[in-house]
Amino acid sequence: MLDRGMARRRMLGISAALAAGFATTGCGTAQNNTTTAQATSATTPPATSGRVAPLSTAPPAVSPTAVADRYAGAQPRQWGVEMRGITSTFEATGKQMALTFDACGGPGNNDVDESLVSFLITQQIPATLFLNKRWIDANPARAAQLALNPLFELANHGVAHKPLSVTGRAAYGIAGTGSVREAADEVWANHERLTTLVGKPPRFFRAGTAHYDDVAVAIVKELGEAPVGYSINADFGATASATQVQSAMNAAAPGAIALAHMHRPQSGTGAGMIAVLPKIRAMGFTYVHL
Ligand SMILES: [Zn+2]
Repeated sequence: MLDRGMARRRMLGISAALAAGFATTGCGTAQNNTTTAQATSATTPPATSGRVAPLSTAPPAVSPTAVADRYAGAQPRQWGVEMRGITSTFEATGKQMALTFDACGGPGNNDVDESLVSFLITQQIPATLFLNKRWIDANPARAAQLALNPLFELANHGVAHKPLSVTGRAAYGIAGTGSVREAADEVWANHERLTTLVGKPPRFFRAGTAHYDDVAVAIVKELGEAPVGYSINADFGATASATQVQSAMNAAAPGAIALAHMHRPQSGTGAGMIAVLPKIRAMGFTYVHL
C-alpha cells in the first residue's frame, strides 16, 4: 500500500517535471512575445496588437487546483527542514558553494539590507534570493531591479510566509498552511508574481521557516519548483551578531547552501557576510547559483 503510494508519487513527480519543462519553454517564449508586444504597442498599438496570438496556444501546464485535488486526503509522515525531496546541498564542481538570502516580508520585515546587496554587486558575488510575495509587493521597484541583475536568481519564498504543511503544523510558533489547497496556494500566487516579474517561472521554493511535511514537498515539486533547505544556518533567522555569522560560515564546504536574510539591515547579517565572504573566496571557494 505504502510502496504503491510512493511509486505513484514518484511517477507524478516525473510527469510534473516533464510538464514543468514544457511550461518553462512555452511560458518563456510567450512571455518574451508579450514583452515585445507590450513594448511595441506602447508606441504603435493597433499594428502590433495581433502579435499576442501565440499566448492562446500555450495554456498553463500546471494547475494548483488539480495538484491539490490529487493529494486530497494524503497524510504526511515526515516534518522538518531536511528530508528526501528537499535540496539541502548541491553537487559541486570543486570548491563551489551557494549563497541564499531570504526576504521574508510582512509587517516589520519589508526592509532591504542595502549594504549587503551593494556588497554582493560590488564583489560580483552571485546569490539566490528567496522573495516572499509581501516583500515584492512592498518593494516592487527594488524587486524589478534585482530581477534584471544576472548576479541574482529570484526564487519563491511563499505568499504568507507559512511553514508548508497540509495539516496546519507549526514551526517556531508560526502556524503552517492548513490543507493541501492552502499549501498549493502558498506556493502558487507567488509563483505567478515572480513569473511576471522575472519573465520566466521560478525554479526554487523555500517555505517560511524552511519547514515542510512530505506531502507539501511533493506538492511543491508538482507545481514545477524544487523545495530548498540549507546546510549552513548562517544568521539564525537574522538574529545573529556579525561575529556569529562569521563563525557559522566557517562551515563553508563544497556543495553547501548557506541560508541568511536580506530584509533586516539592523541585524548582524550584512556586516558578518561582508567580513567573511572575501575570506571564504580567498580559501579558493567560488559562489554559484543553485
Ligand atoms: Zn523567511
